[in-house]
Amino acid sequence: MVTYPPRLSLAQTPTPLHLLERLSAREKGPRIWVKRDDQTGAATSGNKVRKLEFALARAAEEGCDTLVTCGGVQSNHCRTTALLGARLGLKVHLILRLDNEAEIQGNLLLDYLSGAEVTLLQRKDYIAHQRDNFAYWQELYRRQGRNPYFITTGASDATGVWGYVACAGELKEDFAHHHIAPELIVHATGSGGTQAGLTAGCALHYLPSAVVGIAVCDDAAYFQRKVADDLQVWRSLYGVDIDLNALSIRVDDRHIGAGYAIAGEEVFSCIRDVAALEGLILDPVYSGKAFLGLLKNLRSGEYRDCRDIVFVHTGGLFGLLAQQEKLDLSGD
Ligand SMILES: *Cc1c(COP(=O)(O)O)cnc(C)c1O
Repeated sequence: MVTYPPRLSLAQTPTPLHLLERLSAREKGPRIWVKRDDQTGAATSGNKVRKLEFALARAAEEGCDTLVTCGGVQSNHCRTTALLGARLGLKVHLILRLDNEAEIQGNLLLDYLSGAEVTLLQRKDYIAHQRDNFAYWQELYRRQGRNPYFITTGASDATGVWGYVACAGELKEDFAHHHIAPELIVHATGSGGTQAGLTAGCALHYLPSAVVGIAVCDDAAYFQRKVADDLQVWRSLYGVDIDLNALSIRVDDRHIGAGYAIAGEEVFSCIRDVAALEGLILDPVYSGKAFLGLLKNLRSGEYRDCRDIVFVHTGGLFGLLAQQEKLDLSGD
């Protein structure tokens, strides 16, 4: 039995697990299943809401009235926090890193619609403020008599780990329902929280699957350290009975391409392919890059010993809409 800390019910769960029939038949390899975490909500869809169920429960316990969080200008995490904050009646302040563009579209459009306060920072200013967890803004709210709660990038900290521990619990039921024992669970890894939760969750729930995060930004060494560090804090903070040394943190960093949120034509081509073949929409920042990685590995024979592979679709639709001009629809 896994004992969870307090959790707000904000995500539409359990999400479906289903087989990608046409894609699996075409590739003639293992069966590829998809865990539809792109369906955890409508505007609040994606993986972040699972972590925020626990983060926001903690914020509520601490009596917070203001959420401060941060991310890239098209951050799915910030959009989800902004909308959930509005729903809970909290003030939300988003501090966003200007990567290339700041057009009000995609996630940023929803940020503004939610009524969140938005501060856009140039990359170097963002990095400088990130070093002290945006203490300037936290202090500002304290001086105004408010009680701010800071949520780190992607809600990937010890509390956020629980979101994907819970998802692993759902997967256990999904596997029993479909009578499968997937050798692999594959997902996009960006700030490490999904990977930390799934890796620990598979052990706690006795799943047979290895978890592989396909990196979309930093390299394998970075994620191995980040996931191990977060799990260490999680284990001691919550007194979880788990042998962390027995866990294997597996990261595939061969599919990052030119960098975070920069996708090549191959990724867009994969997005068009999967949309037309399966009616499944991937995004260029996370799920599309990871799915292309999975397909490439499959085609090179890396998964030849697998019968079933689960791809966790972590969402990202609004990030695709922010890059729509790169989706050349004139045909491959
Ligand atoms: C944040 C995000 C990820 C990465 O999850 P992490 O827990 O941050 O590693 C993957 N896919 C989408 C769509 C995301 O928004």
